[in-house]
Amino acid sequence: MKSKFDEPYCPLCNSKDLTLFCEDKNRIYLRCLYCKLVFVHKCYWLSPKDEKTVYDLHENNAQDQGYRQFLSRLSVPLLEKLDSKQKGLDFGCGPGPTLSAILEEQGQQVDLYDPIYYNDPSVFYKNYDFICATEVVEHLHDPDREFAALFKMLRTDGWLGIMTKLVTNKQAFSQWHYIRDMTHICFYSQSTFEYLAQRFNAELNFIANDVILLNKKGMGAFLNKDYFLTT
Ligand SMILES: [Zn+2]
Repeated sequence: MKSKFDEPYCPLCNSKDLTLFCEDKNRIYLRCLYCKLVFVHKCYWLSPKDEKTVYDLHENNAQDQGYRQFLSRLSVPLLEKLDSKQKGLDFGCGPGPTLSAILEEQGQQVDLYDPIYYNDPSVFYKNYDFICATEVVEHLHDPDREFAALFKMLRTDGWLGIMTKLVTNKQAFSQWHYIRDMTHICFYSQSTFEYLAQRFNAELNFIANDVILLNKKGMGAFLNKDYFLTT
């Protein structure tokens, strides 16, 4: 029997208004007309085992000065927003948590979560002053659910810091190294972050081309997306 899920839909806003954005020798990339997310259908997802094989190749660690420099592009502007000794979460920290080490050296307290390397689901029942997701959101199978979980864990006035490279246009996309990584399955543009900011009532700050800070606002936060779609 054909289920409604046979028909492709946007994994972020669930819209079925999709357009073909790009096609290469490996995959077909669809774009949501509503939130502008570019994504691949789940038929292109790697198996969990193959995904882990790729992630194990990311040999990042807290002693790697080049990697620390890369992460400073998020940690420096984020630390400017934080008081001392705040509580944060490094979401999708990978096998060698480094951003958490940088932030803890600056007096912050940081929990770790990663579905493969630090699978501690207790974090989902906690609240945080800040959450970081560096080079993570492009890997999410279910960004609708994951972003809802992140904003639920975040305290009002808390900060969500994201690093992901943004889609600009079709021409650049088709030649982009970022799409050659088969574990990259969601690609965001500035418009997608505008959608997220509106949906979760957050103030949006583009710090650099691939560094985004969202500040969760008070009353009215966590708007139901169905409500959002009809207004
Ligand atoms: Zn969408």
